[in-house]
Amino acid sequence: AKEGGRLRSQVYDARLGRKYALMGRLTREMEPALAAGEFVPFFQPQIEPATGRLTGAEVLVRWLHPQLGLLNPVEFIFVAERNRMMGRIDHEVRKLALDTFKKWQRYGLQLDQMSFNLTAEKLGDKTFVDEIMRDIEQRKIKPSQICFELLESILIDGANAPVLEGAADLSFAGFKLALDDFGTGHASIASLISVPVDTVKIDRSFINGLHSSKRIRSMTKAIIGLCQQLRLKIVAEGVEDVRDLQLVQEMGCDYVQGYYFAKPMSSNDFWDWAQSRQIE
Ligand code: C2E
Ligand code: CA
Ligand code: CA
Ligand code: CA
Repeated sequence: AKEGGRLRSQVYDARLGRKYALMGRLTREMEPALAAGEFVPFFQPQIEPATGRLTGAEVLVRWLHPQLGLLNPVEFIFVAERNRMMGRIDHEVRKLALDTFKKWQRYGLQLDQMSFNLTAEKLGDKTFVDEIMRDIEQRKIKPSQICFELLESILIDGANAPVLEGAADLSFAGFKLALDDFGTGHASIASLISVPVDTVKIDRSFINGLHSSKRIRSMTKAIIGLCQQLRLKIVAEGVEDVRDLQLVQEMGCDYVQGYYFAKPMSSNDFWDWAQSRQIE
């Protein structure tokens, strides 16, 4: 057993060592990667189940690493945040995504809105509203066509004034706000009071549990009831199969998102996917 323990810890050390080596590498390569345009937006469709209409897309960053391939946010966001680069990466990715939004529109793919994830740092930054206003005015996009997804953790942990003011400023300027991963934090309900959100995104841990757990089903129903009382739009995240879809639709979710429809895709793949849906 002792032998096994040592072996396990050696394996663990080796893995940890590799992890640190990789973190060091990503840290060094991040700045040149940003300059080289290796950070790109992927897009995941949002659909209105009642009509099947494609209503929007959530922008999710990917790092197209020349040697390591396609990197997901879990693999680099914490490195970017530690090096205070996430704000700049987000800005580059956002500009590319807004260009894509316009391009799709020109070619006849009109989405109601495009959604972006926002860090606490950006939200608390006084200059952010000016930055985003510039970006959308240049492209003749209206604030109401843009939704910012905020984690309740950033609204509460940072229950600091700048973050709440930032949310209020964005809302006042006409942007939509969504509360992301709803139900997973310690202060879900409180954040509904302090922030002027239009939409709540029910976390996929609830959606995943709908079939196996009666308790989760009841909680999800209660959350949806609460949101309806508050006249909030509801998005179900992580809809992975047709049973999930049927349940959340019966329960009254306005929009759905998940692998059942599509994974996040490059702009070209999203376009092709949207075209092939119209033909069907
Ligand atoms: P999130 O905002 O909750 O995004 C949803 C995540 O769930 C995405 O992971 C998406 O690919 C994944 N997902 C979507 N549908 C399904 C499904 O049916 N089943 C399962 N199992 N997963 C599904 P992703 O792209 O790896 O992003 C992870 C997180 O990283 C995001 O969570 C968000 O918090 C953050 N993030 C992603 N892109 C950005 C960005 O551009 N900027 C910032 N600041 N954060 C980002
Ligand atoms: Ca999100
Ligand atoms: Ca989410
Ligand atoms: Ca999440």
